[in-house]
Amino acid sequence: MKSIAKPAGRSKGAARKPAASKTKRRSAGRRSKLSEAQITEIFRRFAAANPEPKSELEYTNPYTLLVAVALSAQATDAGVNKATRSLFKIADTPEKMLRLGEDRLREAIKTIGLYRNKARNVILASQALVAAHGGKVPRDRDALEALPGVGRKTANVILNVAFGEPTMAVDTHVFRVANRIGLSNGKTPLAVEEDLLRVVPSQYATHAHHWLILHGRYVCKARKPECPACLINDLCLYDAKTL
Ligand code: SF4
Repeated sequence: MKSIAKPAGRSKGAARKPAASKTKRRSAGRRSKLSEAQITEIFRRFAAANPEPKSELEYTNPYTLLVAVALSAQATDAGVNKATRSLFKIADTPEKMLRLGEDRLREAIKTIGLYRNKARNVILASQALVAAHGGKVPRDRDALEALPGVGRKTANVILNVAFGEPTMAVDTHVFRVANRIGLSNGKTPLAVEEDLLRVVPSQYATHAHHWLILHGRYVCKARKPECPACLINDLCLYDAKTL
C-alpha cells in the first residue's frame, strides 16, 4: 500500500518573509488578493515542509485509488482504509471486483457511510471499465466522469494522483483553506478550482491540492485554525486568525 505523509508546521529555523501587508500586492488572478510573489512564497514553504505530499487514502493501483476515492465521500480516509485493506487483497481490479460481487462488496464496506449506494456504484463502474476501457482506468476526464459514482472532484484526484496531472481537486478542506488564505474567493468548488489553476505557480501545481488538504486537515482546521503554529500566517489574509 502507498503510505501517508503528514504536514509540518513552521520549523524553528524557517525564515520569515515580510508580512503580507508590507509586500506590494499585485493581482495574480481574477479572485486572488495575493501577489504572485506571495503565492509563490506560500507554496515554497509548503514544499519545504513536505516535499512529497501523498494522499492519505491507501491504494495499490489506479483502480483501487478510484474505488477508495469513491468510498471516501462523506467518510474519513481512516475509515475507508480500514475497510479497503482487506478488500483490495482480494479485489484490486475491476474483474476481481465483479467476481466478488455486490453482496460481498457491501459486506466488506458496511462500516462506511452510504455503503449500499457506494457498493452499487463500484460494481457499475467496474462493469463500465471492463466493457469500455479493457479493465483499465482511463486517463481522460470525460471518460472518468462518465463512470457511475465519479464526479469532477474524484476525476481530479485520479488524474492527479494516478497520472501526475496538475489538477486541483477541491474538497471541503481545499475550499475553506483557499478562501481563508486569499488564494480564491470562489463561492463554489468549481470557482475555487479555476482560481487555483490560475494562480498556483506551475512548479507547485502537481502537489498543491495535497498541501492544501493536509493544511486544512491538521492546521487550518474548520472550527479553530492553529494560526500561531501556521507556517504561512504572515502571508495569509484571513481576518479571523487565532492568537
Ligand atoms: S494563518 Fe490561520 S487561517 Fe491562515 S492559513 Fe494559517 S491556520 Fe489558516
